[in-house]
Amino acid sequence: MNAKRRHDDTSDLVLLPLGGTGEIGMNCYCYGVGASAARDWIMVDLGVKFGDERDPGIDVIMPDVGFITKNRKRFHGLVITHAHEDHIGAVAHLWPQLECEVHCTPFAAEILKLKLIEHGLDEDVPVIKHRPGSKFNLGPYKLEFIPVTHSIPESCALFIDSGQGTAVHSGDWKIDRSPQLGHAIAEDRFRQLGEKGVDALICDSTNVLREGLSPSEKDVAATLHEIVANAKGRVAVTTFASHVERISCAVRAARAAGREVVIVGRAMRNTIEAARKCGYLKDAGAFLDMEEFGYLPNDRVLLLCTGSQGEARAALARIAEDSHPQISLDKGDLVIFSARTIPGNEKEVGAVINNLALQDIDVITPDEALVHSSGHPRQGELQQMYDWVKPKVLVPMHGEPRHLRAHMNFALAHGIPEVVMLEDLKIARLKPGEAGVIDEAPGGRLHLDGKLIVDGEDGPARIRRKLSFAGVLFVSLLIDVKGDLHDLTLHSEGVPPGLASELQEVAENAFVSMPRARRKDDATVEEAIRTSLRRACDEAWGKKPICKVSVFRS
Ligand SMILES: [Zn+2]
Ligand SMILES: [Zn+2]
Repeated sequence: MNAKRRHDDTSDLVLLPLGGTGEIGMNCYCYGVGASAARDWIMVDLGVKFGDERDPGIDVIMPDVGFITKNRKRFHGLVITHAHEDHIGAVAHLWPQLECEVHCTPFAAEILKLKLIEHGLDEDVPVIKHRPGSKFNLGPYKLEFIPVTHSIPESCALFIDSGQGTAVHSGDWKIDRSPQLGHAIAEDRFRQLGEKGVDALICDSTNVLREGLSPSEKDVAATLHEIVANAKGRVAVTTFASHVERISCAVRAARAAGREVVIVGRAMRNTIEAARKCGYLKDAGAFLDMEEFGYLPNDRVLLLCTGSQGEARAALARIAEDSHPQISLDKGDLVIFSARTIPGNEKEVGAVINNLALQDIDVITPDEALVHSSGHPRQGELQQMYDWVKPKVLVPMHGEPRHLRAHMNFALAHGIPEVVMLEDLKIARLKPGEAGVIDEAPGGRLHLDGKLIVDGEDGPARIRRKLSFAGVLFVSLLIDVKGDLHDLTLHSEGVPPGLASELQEVAENAFVSMPRARRKDDATVEEAIRTSLRRACDEAWGKKPICKVSVFRS
């Protein structure tokens, strides 16, 4: 047996991201332990990423979990670190393929339940709840939810003891010394684990480019309190629907100023209901319905609404356009954007702010005041986490390529001995020996296309992109027994009309110029017509539409 073979048969701890490297979204990291031929797997998080104009008609993009489902006998379950869409959003879509236990905190379970009900799966999926700080076992893995501070209740890092090595999977986190809702970050537990020895830290990179420490939610709360106290007209606060802590801070600011609170937006109402079921927002009092908004004096109401990212269908965009059926704002009212603009949404958010400006409504964004603080660690917090956990290996996760690379350099400059850069579908050995990529898994992406799950790389979105760029031509030919053209019909969609009217003749000429012998074969006729039409379009228009030719014979 040669040395390499012996090495490959060693039982090891590996990490395989199925999604989520090099972008924020679609987090799905699998841990495997055992010899390469028979590893035991668990999956941490199963999120979505939202589609954009590059994939027309695709709202949601998800990781392909086929590699895990092929190993189902040795797949022991899914663990969710927190209830954000980029960590939990694909569970209801992909569970029918995985058919596994789902382990999460009570709040994440409430959020997941709403999604499972929508999919008719709430009776089928075994959701096992663990309080933050709990320990539980999955197959050969000993796991522990370690409380962290973030921007949704009950966020946890996951400690993984595989028997062959240990890892801390950070999830999304920041260090907030004065959280305004829920648990504190479990600094002592991280320190204890660090003392015992942690092999690898798989760590959030989102804010690695920012120096210093994140502001606390306490400071955001104080700013909101002051702004609301000084406001004369109506106040609307928009934030992420899932940010219960921020919702709580805005409600307290309202109560202190003697304002009633009206909630607008289904997603926000759902989150509030889930939070209340888990014991949060107990002191928030009752919220009023939208119908009551118009009857309240201007200085006695605070509106909490969705739409901080400029989403066209959300409440705020419609209020800004003055097209909301129940809610309208006027000159002298104030809208607070208590959220950062996620990269890619700048145009939409700008449009909403412009519409508000057209109505003389004041706007405060995080550029003007501390009305938002991110839930991800800056450099100072990363350094503290390294000091607590003292990992031998660091794997940057949760960020665009520039963030992951910056995190690598930052970690190496701050005493981490080894850093492994990972791409989706690469299998990295974390222990034993030097950490690094040792293998690759098959996979890719899935698209949610309406109600159907389709292949992401080779799916219908690829053709739709072409259609949106250059349209389509349909040609049908009726050829008689002698090989003469009996009829030729051409339809076009999305092709300039002047050009389209010339194409009939191009197609007829292409047919007539074919030798009779070649006209006998349908495929040859179709290809000749297609080629000549696309060439004519390219010459006149500079574009080649999709072209479908059908031959009929009489
Ligand atoms: Zn995230
Ligand atoms: Zn998150």
